[in-house]
Amino acid sequence: MIDLRTKVREVPDFPEPGIGFKDISPLLLDPEALQQAVDELAAWVRERRADLVLGAEARGFWLGAAIAYAAGCGFVAARRPGKLPPETVSATYSLEYGENTLEVAADAIGRGARVAIHDDVLATGGTVEAIAGLVEDLGGTVVGVNFVLELSFLGGRDRLARYDLHSLVTY
Ligand code: AMP
Repeated sequence: MIDLRTKVREVPDFPEPGIGFKDISPLLLDPEALQQAVDELAAWVRERRADLVLGAEARGFWLGAAIAYAAGCGFVAARRPGKLPPETVSATYSLEYGENTLEVAADAIGRGARVAIHDDVLATGGTVEAIAGLVEDLGGTVVGVNFVLELSFLGGRDRLARYDLHSLVTY
């Protein structure tokens, strides 16, 4: 087993002064680390009997579709405005740095669908909280939210307390 923490690179002052950016590129570059991360998250998703994995643009796409494949789920993308053909539902929320809007295709999530949300990093939890709201507005159930890594000092886990939450590495 690889200690996945050793596969995360900290980049100071990116993309803004004062932000300690967690870069999972070393994990993605290492075939064994990549496989271990996908397998662990996919096993967790499978246990929650998810129908769909929803990945957040853009870094949630990297492992999101791989997790869906490994867990035997479909994949849905939450995208920046204007990228998906209509009809979409959208949510705007604030980030650790700046604000963002994400959209999901309105017909992607059927009533009663069991959805596991994936993103690379849990910071304040605003992204996943907003996406989870969209899933619920469309009649889906959020059966879990999972991340490669979690910045616990930003309190995202408290903000997402109503959801079953899993991350591979905690800072
Ligand atoms: P949040 O909505 O605050 O949980 O922010 C999560 C989103 O912002 C994720 O998509 C992350 O990719 C990105 N993010 C926020 N802070 C960081 C950080 N310090 N390092 C890497 N990614 C981050």
